Amino acid sequence: MRAAMFLGPGKMEIQEVEKIKPKKGEVLMKVHACAVCGTDIRIFYHGQKNVVPPHITGHEIAGVIEELGQGVKGYKPGQKVTVVTCVGCGKCRFCKKGIYNLCDTPRYIGYYYPGGFAEYMIVPAEAVQGNNILKVPNNLGFSEIAMIEPLSCCINAQEYLNIQKGDTVVIIGAGPIGCMHAELAKASGAKKIVMFDISDNRLELAKSRFEYVLTANNSKEDMVKKVMELTNNEGADVIIVACPVNACQEQAMQMVAKKGRISFFGGLPKDNPYIKLDSNIVHYKEVSIFGVFASNRKHYEEAAKLISTGKINAKKFVTDAFPLEKIVEGIETTKSGKGLKTVISIVGA
Ligand SMILES: [Zn+2]
Ligand SMILES: [Zn+2]
Repeated sequence: MRAAMFLGPGKMEIQEVEKIKPKKGEVLMKVHACAVCGTDIRIFYHGQKNVVPPHITGHEIAGVIEELGQGVKGYKPGQKVTVVTCVGCGKCRFCKKGIYNLCDTPRYIGYYYPGGFAEYMIVPAEAVQGNNILKVPNNLGFSEIAMIEPLSCCINAQEYLNIQKGDTVVIIGAGPIGCMHAELAKASGAKKIVMFDISDNRLELAKSRFEYVLTANNSKEDMVKKVMELTNNEGADVIIVACPVNACQEQAMQMVAKKGRISFFGGLPKDNPYIKLDSNIVHYKEVSIFGVFASNRKHYEEAAKLISTGKINAKKFVTDAFPLEKIVEGIETTKSGKGLKTVISIVGA
């Protein structure tokens, strides 16, 4: 089978490797599509401690069940599936509650385990046991299925934010994740959705696909002033910081309404993860600040439901597609920020 092998920073090669057989407790999946995530880009250019080359990355996976290992029940060959990225130890306090993303010793598909940038992928026995395989409705196309993982992370964030009918929602960062947040906020009844980005191109693209958003460039306009203008000086009910910029998190604090909710969706640079925060704003305005990391099965289920019922049109998030052979081009295209999501189609699978 063909696989895109990550060989170290900046090096990825299509290799012919031996087709894998599922061992006891494992499931073999035929991959049809795998979308490129921001972390795939970072791994490609800089490597990552959990990814030991040579390795197959990719965790936004869409495929079908190909073969079941000994003892596995409940799946049929041909069934469309995706796989929940976080595989928990199954023993720690959070795993026992099914919150695998906060496991003490998590292992991830596409990082620790080989991922979806290949014709076939093994779902490891611990993931099969942890119920990480999600069967998805047949009406979903493979590129739509590949959107379930990123959408599930946004759903995890918005679960904390409790977006209500009539809320004003500000999203900082108009990339694919920002656009997914906009769609979810709209589905929850947000009245006004304002997106900021420092790239006019990204804002135009967001506006062209999600016509209801108001957009502004925060390298040209004062974000806090703009939000105050748009909200009668009340501030925004919900602010989602979907970019890794310290100053944006600080500004979120300055434009939040009473009883406002803020999500720090993106991590900050490891060498400077600090921000200055006026604690009295949190106190007097009853503001809540939430962190969020990855997602769990229930968020995947919700994402699949929103897409299959048409409440969210996942096709709108996909702007580019490349065959496996052109994966490096796909990664470069995603990095350029000219489009939203890039899907790698595994042709011939
Ligand atoms: Zn992802
Ligand atoms: Zn655990």
